[in-house]
Amino acid sequence: MLTTPTFPLVRQHFAGCSINDLADRFGTPCYVYDAAIMKQRVELLRDFDAIRYAQKACSNIAILDRMKRWGVVVDAVSAGEIERALRVGYDPSAEPAGVVYTADVFDREALQLVIRHQIPVNVGSPDMIDQLGELAPQRDIWIRVNPGFGHGHSQKTNTGGPQSKHGVWHEQIGDCLARARRYGLQITGVHMHIGSGTDMEHLRKVCGAMRQVCQQFGASLRAISTGGGLPVPYREGEAYVDLQEFFAMWDQTRKDIEADLGRAVRLEIEPGRFLVAESGVLITEIRAVKRMGDNVFYLVDSGFNDLARPILYGAYHPIAVAYRQPPPGGEQEVIVGGPLCESGDIFTQSEGGYVQPRRLPVATVGDLLVIGVAGAYGFAMASNYNSKYRAAEVLIEQGEPKLIRRRETAADLLGLEMIPD
Ligand SMILES: *Cc1c(COP(=O)(O)O)cnc(C)c1O
Repeated sequence: MLTTPTFPLVRQHFAGCSINDLADRFGTPCYVYDAAIMKQRVELLRDFDAIRYAQKACSNIAILDRMKRWGVVVDAVSAGEIERALRVGYDPSAEPAGVVYTADVFDREALQLVIRHQIPVNVGSPDMIDQLGELAPQRDIWIRVNPGFGHGHSQKTNTGGPQSKHGVWHEQIGDCLARARRYGLQITGVHMHIGSGTDMEHLRKVCGAMRQVCQQFGASLRAISTGGGLPVPYREGEAYVDLQEFFAMWDQTRKDIEADLGRAVRLEIEPGRFLVAESGVLITEIRAVKRMGDNVFYLVDSGFNDLARPILYGAYHPIAVAYRQPPPGGEQEVIVGGPLCESGDIFTQSEGGYVQPRRLPVATVGDLLVIGVAGAYGFAMASNYNSKYRAAEVLIEQGEPKLIRRRETAADLLGLEMIPD
């Protein structure tokens, strides 16, 4: 269904709109999302009984609203994400629940919200069972299990195994059952978010672990979730997961579990990145071109305050030039950096912070760079570091760009602070 993408080095249009026009109208830096790509990714996962969007990847309420229209439910990992889901009208008591709270801790605010709005909880630590049970007994809960092994594209994204903080350790299932029983809580779902990669051998292992865990939880189970972790290509030549094979393996696992338990079991998937990463670009303007010894730098008006993945994980993002002036022609090795007073503020770096020059078209001050595959963990991780205003966000639908978050202003930045007498 999905063909391996190519990432052109010059790009004047996005989702049917001129990139120059977008920059003129909304300013830079600016996140722009193509709703059609999100919708298409949703369609590819329709075989699952529920698609639960991990909104932390990109949580703007306009995007949650579109997800809701497309029949996608959401996951929330904080009080703020619960508020977002409620704001767009997700119903926690629908079947499947419009919003589920998944975390390894309850902060006090999240616990209050979960109780007040009857939001189903996917428990990632045994202590959460007691905290919930004491205030709200007799409810249904999910358990997120760490099966003892993991998978992830870096140490920082690995979500299973003994070094991961996520989920309930697989040897503590008995303990969880005992705690739940104490409060009359029913364990109705099992969740295993440990990443999938493109590795079917790993997936087989995850499916095997899921079946084993479900046997321990027994007949109260009504649903399982494969978690998220579906990868997307960030580089030329990287392939997609074979979704047919992925679904077939999980569907078979579900059927095995149904046979083990003697009841129907719903199969949920919980993607973040897969639904939104490829729909988003970050548009930024080149503000300086300078030479340092043999290196050429394009310095842009966006930094890791806007897109943190390169400095956090050494993540690679495709970069294209959108010319505002007649192209001078030719290509050169360049380092792309931002405006922050921090030497790590470099978009072209590998894990460990090593600067990686990139072959890009020759460009000049005033031309734009389009940083691709930036829809997931882009704006969502943006900060005000260096007192930068967070970027605008724009959603394109049927060729029409719509502002979904205005650029912050000095008033936004200063509005929460006060000088005591
Ligand atoms: C982050 C997260 C996801 C989504 O992960 P992706 O890699 O973006 O698909 C799903 N479920 C939970 C609980 C998460 O924390």
